[in-house]
Amino acid sequence: MSGLVLNNVTKQFGAFTAVDNVHLSVPHGTFVCLLGPSGCGKTTLLRMIAGLEDPTNGTILLDGADITDVPTHKRNLGMVFQSLALFPHLSVGENIAYSLRIRGASREEQKKRVDELLTLIHLSGYGDRPVSKLSGGQRQRVAIARALALSPKIFLLDEPLSALDAKLREAMQVELRQLQQKLGITTIVVTHDQREAMTMADTVVVMNGGHIRQAASPIEIYRKPADTFVADFIGSTNLIETQVDSSGAATIFGHRVQGIVLPAGAQKATISVRPEDVHLTAPGNGAIDGTVTFVRDLGGTIETFVEAGGQQIIAVSTPRERPEVTAGQAVGIALSPDVCVVLKQ
Ligand code: ATP
Repeated sequence: MSGLVLNNVTKQFGAFTAVDNVHLSVPHGTFVCLLGPSGCGKTTLLRMIAGLEDPTNGTILLDGADITDVPTHKRNLGMVFQSLALFPHLSVGENIAYSLRIRGASREEQKKRVDELLTLIHLSGYGDRPVSKLSGGQRQRVAIARALALSPKIFLLDEPLSALDAKLREAMQVELRQLQQKLGITTIVVTHDQREAMTMADTVVVMNGGHIRQAASPIEIYRKPADTFVADFIGSTNLIETQVDSSGAATIFGHRVQGIVLPAGAQKATISVRPEDVHLTAPGNGAIDGTVTFVRDLGGTIETFVEAGGQQIIAVSTPRERPEVTAGQAVGIALSPDVCVVLKQ
């Protein structure tokens, strides 16, 4: 297949397995985010793709060719790491041209490419400026341009935006995605920020404990999380126990919910219901009964905390659909089966 393929890739540090038997296909032109909590193995996986770490087992293929033992500088990669490592004594243009100069490109070629890249990163006219006189976001863009100078086949970034403040970071996420779409370059980014992954990626690869728990589009990860870990890690969710009653119907807190189907033979399962899918109604009327414990008005959204069956359920609504409820009030919780995702344990 064309693109990058990881087959059974494992990395052990002594007795510790940091990446465990990972399979992943990254078609050319796609944007992949490796997402997971600290220590889940995402940087180690990226470093193996970069050739900075040797897999203990498994193979890495690029366009069908085995590159597992090919050294980093022959893999045709562009890389940006958290510490941008720009050369502080060089200008913006000299930083961007650095790899071209090492490759022996003529002055004219260097200038042409630097100008192209400066336009691409919206810094035309900044070529002569010392990098020490740039803002954090501008430095970030220079590091990206420098990594793209040799038109690499694959672009690898490890937590590239984590040093930026929240607002700039959000703006750079959109910018990076737009740049990737314009160039059509295969891009793999490590992040622990799920919002960042959801903003940028075609495919989000959720990792935990060295394993890939799910690799899918952002919306599929959000709407159809594969297991409890993914459901809990991505966005906020309500995890609710479902039991099968003597007639074989699924029940929540002893209340039958039509349409929820548990895996064959299972007596119980956990379901994930996103807070925006929890609708509050009048109590009774066939809904699950609960009591409002707290209402949090965040301006753009309103969170209503409801105690039901000894558990806290959170409902999120917009001001327009605001449920007129207050703490202490009895309410019903209406769950439509199509928003209840039955999770693998
Ligand atoms: P973070 O978000 O904190 O950077 P990560 O998901 O990128 O985490 P890795 O850096 O890939 O995690 O590390 C995965 C595990 O492997 C961690 O438990 C880490 O301590 C361990 N590890 C990484 N590099 C080495 C090494 N060179 N020697 C020993 N253990 C290592």
